[in-house]
Amino acid sequence: MTQERLAYFKKRLEEMRDSLLENIRGETAEERNPFETDGDVVDQADMLSTASLVEGLSNTQKRTLEEVLRALQRIENGVYGKCTVCGEEIDQERLEAIPYAEKCRKHM
Ligand SMILES: [Zn+2]
Repeated sequence: MTQERLAYFKKRLEEMRDSLLENIRGETAEERNPFETDGDVVDQADMLSTASLVEGLSNTQKRTLEEVLRALQRIENGVYGKCTVCGEEIDQERLEAIPYAEKCRKHM
């Protein structure tokens, strides 16, 4: 994957994360996002455990948020876009539809 594509997916994932976090924060949406980080891996992990404790978010949204955070972590780790089972590149079409996809079509 090119750096350009990676930056594109990172942006999309960050947007997804932000809108999910906004749902969590609801009425306090005007305050600064307490989960906002510079993409530090430790902070991301921290954020994941914090987010999983947050109430007021549906289970589906929580799961999606966790998947989005994991995907952002994989970007940091340089393994984004590779199947977590076989290590093959996940096809672009699939990532385009689900930017946080962890597995290739064969292993989904
Ligand atoms: Zn696979």
